[in-house]
Amino acid sequence: MDHLYCLRCSRELEAGQKSVAVYLFAQTVGVRPRQKSSAQRICFCPQCSVSLAMGPAPEGALNLAAWQMIRDIVGADPALTEAAWESLHGVEEGLLPATGTAGAAHPARAGAYFEF
Ligand SMILES: [Zn+2]
Repeated sequence: MDHLYCLRCSRELEAGQKSVAVYLFAQTVGVRPRQKSSAQRICFCPQCSVSLAMGPAPEGALNLAAWQMIRDIVGADPALTEAAWESLHGVEEGLLPATGTAGAAHPARAGAYFEF
């Protein structure tokens, strides 16, 4: 399996991780034999998917078409938004070592701050 990276932030996407894939290929119409380009798989991590979907419309007809597709699927199911939240929380945890594994509102973790 080749490694997939988020097009926007270059974060590596693990197999099976929640993400949005945009498949893109071109083919000729009315030309025989029909010519078909190779297919590109463009991936976005949950954060970038949600950020793009909530952000302003991009420039360019192709970008706009992709943006509308991303908006459709991000808006259709909260799973991606939840994954983006979870990942943001994970980043925060990673930046704060030695504060335990509990959630942000955990009293023991709040206590740990006073030991610094
Ligand atoms: Zn990303």
